[in-house]
Amino acid sequence: MSRRLTHDARDLPTEADVVVVGGGIMGLATAFHLARLGAGRVIVLEKSYLCSGASGRNGGGVRAQWSSEINIGLMKESLAICSDFATEMRINVWFRRGGYLFLARSEERAKQLAASVALQRDHGLPTRLLDAREVREVVPELDVSDLVVASYNPDDAVVFPWPFVWGYANAAAERGVGIFPFVEVDAIETDGKRVTGVVTRAQSDPKRTHRVKTPLVVNACGAWSPELAAKVGIALPNHPHRHEICSTEPLKPFLGPLVAELATGLYFSQSMRGEIVGGISNEKVPDGLDQESSLRFLGLYARALTRTMPILGGVRVLRQWAGCYDLTPDGNPIVGRVDALEGFVLLCGFMGHGFMMAPVMSRMTAEHLLHGAHDALFQRWNLRRYETGELLSESMILG
Ligand SMILES: Cc1cc2nc3c(=O)[nH]c(=O)nc-3n(C[C@H](O)[C@H](O)[C@H](O)COP(=O)(O)OP(=O)(O)OC[C@H]3O[C@@H](n4cnc5c(N)ncnc54)[C@H](O)[C@@H]3O)c2cc1C
Repeated sequence: MSRRLTHDARDLPTEADVVVVGGGIMGLATAFHLARLGAGRVIVLEKSYLCSGASGRNGGGVRAQWSSEINIGLMKESLAICSDFATEMRINVWFRRGGYLFLARSEERAKQLAASVALQRDHGLPTRLLDAREVREVVPELDVSDLVVASYNPDDAVVFPWPFVWGYANAAAERGVGIFPFVEVDAIETDGKRVTGVVTRAQSDPKRTHRVKTPLVVNACGAWSPELAAKVGIALPNHPHRHEICSTEPLKPFLGPLVAELATGLYFSQSMRGEIVGGISNEKVPDGLDQESSLRFLGLYARALTRTMPILGGVRVLRQWAGCYDLTPDGNPIVGRVDALEGFVLLCGFMGHGFMMAPVMSRMTAEHLLHGAHDALFQRWNLRRYETGELLSESMILG
């Protein structure tokens, strides 16, 4: 008999070996790997429905075009996991390798792209620099009048985010992970030195609290992670920032790659259903946990999109929505155990690219927590770096 995917708050246990807070892709995928590796009783607590955070609101872009060795290596592996995901997890995630095409319209951006391409090629990626004529061979509809250069990796891809998250949720449930949607972690209990449990509040009965004893809490709350950390007096440097996105009416398939521009943060791709899905940076948005849509975004996006691909001028927008990026000061995630409190683990700060990082980071996190593996990565991306000042850089960030 197959196990239930999710459980009612009334079935919450009183003890667990690991409590993962956050039912987005990071939390669910990590819970799956923890269970796969024999971590014992693992539960996932999600204050809303699965996919309610950024994991259900993103563009599904997965790319290995990055400017740092660490990201190129990780994302190469993530792409490989994505391409096998449907077979291994028995769910169609609409994985499509159409490539990513980054456009540079200034000499400065062109230099940046050229340096990244050289590094990517050193790591075995087939990324190439394209001139305007070559770009038009890949996407004839692009306006390349002021293009300096573009970088193109045909192996980059797009997935449909929801089934990807459900795939991990199913696989986790099959391995005995208890997934509890509509259960919020209200407080984290400690003995002063280490985590001893969490106190939860269910949406179905908000007046009652429930206590789960546990020695290990994983903060996979995305843009809400500073809120959770603050409950145990830990101040995180990451902060939430609204990012908007929209989808048009479906068009006959014509667009191969996801097209992106680092200077403006514009990106758009064509989904398997034909819609043009894309977004753009909007620097005027103040920081905060705001997931509302705005008219300003539509204007900004429409102007940049039609300048880049004029034939899209007459296409109708069908739906717009928003989610929160989880931004860190140096553009890199914050992961691993915290020095100040034993048993409190961070898995957050994934900016606007946490979806593509999740397949590999979730596996590594489980291996790190259970077997101490990948220590170098978890040292480099530890919260501690903001105290020691050993910050890292990554220039190929969208948004
Ligand atoms: C519009 C948009 C487009 C994006 N496009 C891309 C893209 O193309 N490619 C890419 O790789 N990434 C993209 N991203 C980023 C990506 O979606 C995120 O980095 C990733 O989904 C983060 O996953 P997560 O599980 O860490 O966080 P989330 O999915 O946000 O999950 C965190 C969960 O924690 C829950 N939670 C919070 N507090 C509590 C609590 N106290 N108790 C219980 N539960 C709690 C929340 O309800 C939420 O469901 C995009 C993001 C947005 C918003």
